[in-house]
Amino acid sequence: MSTKFDSNSETAASNAQGSLDAVIVGAGFSGLFMLHKLRGIGLSAKIYEAGDGIGGTWYWNSYPGARCDVQSVEYSYQFSEDLQQDWNWSERYASQPEILSYLEHVTDRFDLRRDVVLKTRVSGAEFDEKSNRWKVTSDDGRVVDAQFLIMATGALSTIFYPDIPGREAFKGQSAHTGAWPLEGLDFQDKRVGVIGTGSSGIQCIPIIAEQAEHLTVFQRTPAYSVPAGNYDLDPGWLTEFKNDYSGLRERNEATMGGFGSDHPVNTELALQVSEKEREDQYQHRWQNVGGLLFLGAYADLLTDPAANQTAAEFVRQKIRATVIDPEVAERLMPTTMIGCKRLCTDTNYYETYNRANVSLVDIKDSPIEEITETGLRIGEKSYDLDCIVFATGFDAMTGAISNIDIRGKGGTRLTDKWADGPINYLGVGTAGFPNLFTIVGPGNPSVLTNMVCTIEHHVGWVAECIEYLRSNSFSAIEVTPAAELDWVAEVNAIAASTLFPTCNSWYLGANIPGKPRVFMPYLGLPPYREKCAEVAKEGYSGFDLT
Ligand code: NAP
Repeated sequence: MSTKFDSNSETAASNAQGSLDAVIVGAGFSGLFMLHKLRGIGLSAKIYEAGDGIGGTWYWNSYPGARCDVQSVEYSYQFSEDLQQDWNWSERYASQPEILSYLEHVTDRFDLRRDVVLKTRVSGAEFDEKSNRWKVTSDDGRVVDAQFLIMATGALSTIFYPDIPGREAFKGQSAHTGAWPLEGLDFQDKRVGVIGTGSSGIQCIPIIAEQAEHLTVFQRTPAYSVPAGNYDLDPGWLTEFKNDYSGLRERNEATMGGFGSDHPVNTELALQVSEKEREDQYQHRWQNVGGLLFLGAYADLLTDPAANQTAAEFVRQKIRATVIDPEVAERLMPTTMIGCKRLCTDTNYYETYNRANVSLVDIKDSPIEEITETGLRIGEKSYDLDCIVFATGFDAMTGAISNIDIRGKGGTRLTDKWADGPINYLGVGTAGFPNLFTIVGPGNPSVLTNMVCTIEHHVGWVAECIEYLRSNSFSAIEVTPAAELDWVAEVNAIAASTLFPTCNSWYLGANIPGKPRVFMPYLGLPPYREKCAEVAKEGYSGFDLT
């Protein structure tokens, strides 16, 4: 049955108090651009944001050393040529404060602030099947009604604290890297403990070590880290680079991750070249390229375990060569497949363990049993600390969406539907939840790519879809069950042909006790973009439009 959408009454409803065309949840890169796009097609929309500032990830993760691992000239919007020409990045990899000031600039430049409602956490959303609209509730009791509900909630926004008893008892200062206090933490001459050695831990550890009287790092699983190779950008270089900004964007679109076309993935296979050639290639990537592009040294590093281990061993040799105490070096040695968990990038991470005021405690076989008033306890041994930093990660990709009580058709809860994994189509929607869009949700290439460009693509696709619905007088769009089953099968089949499922990464939800082990991101930006274009061209195949 098809109930045609009455565009006049919709406009009237949008003007009424508490009624909008769209509610966007989250004021990060996704939400801000979504607002801009929806305004551009004449919709009334507001962003609801839990923080008291815009920026999403880049608002919350203000811990010392936080910076992006994709180059600043790539990790930025491309929708406005004027914007990308006007903005001048100061470093190859932008720091958190610089990215946040960029987002502040974008917010003001495009006059977005007047439609951003801060300090408002969306707590529930219920779909009304008669009106095809969402009733969205925030935790201060406000209710707003909207045709479209757009989750721009980010992939890494729900912080995870391990279930260690006593956290509340600690009398010193403590914070999670992903919810860093605005006033910061004072490490000067303090005894500091950092729990966790993923990307966040690896970024803050060298900086905390410079300030603390003593830093103790509590490590469960050693991670692979490659020097970022950060440097100040030369203004002359930047001016010249901007002459062909769109050229870089175009070349990046053809890459699997949407970045790094200036150092493309080597098409050779690791074991088909001599050992000397391999060493030279790894050394070149380590020393001259830096960061995530290390994994582009050979085409098969993420598919062939033997090839992978040549790169892994190269990094282990670097750790041995850098860390003076061989026992500490051994403890820092990762053994999993490199790249299976997100590769970390650093500035002076391994070197930090040569400092006299830094110690490394391996907690793999003897976990932290208790946080106490004065520090923490492992077995019989107590560690006295003034500050504890939890760099313990996120309930990635689904956490923020699942924390909202979203009820679709028939009152079905999204958390129930996703109990065995986030079944979805294109990472943008799920059957039974019409007019609900997830920007770079599970099933989208998202975290395996240059997020900003993937976000721009996804937001653009959603905006075009909404424009299509409006111009064809449809009031609702809903994923079909068949389309989502096929999509999830495809996401998993692609992942299964790689080494990604071989370790306990957050890509699989494996860092969260009890979370179903399902590989969530879609591997490959170009095929994903092609699929989205094809779906739109076919009048939104895989969706029911009513
Ligand atoms: P993460 O990679 O999930 O690392 C969390 C760390 O906490 C791991 O070392 C983990 O150990 C440890 N941990 C968890 N529970 C623990 C427990 N009970 N006891 C001891 N240790 C425990 O989180 P993250 O470092 O915040 O990074 C998450 C993602 O954010 C990154 O992968 C990256 O995509 C993004 N990020 C990017 C940047 C950047 O652009 N440079 C910076 C920061 C974050 P196990 O490994 O044993 O679980």
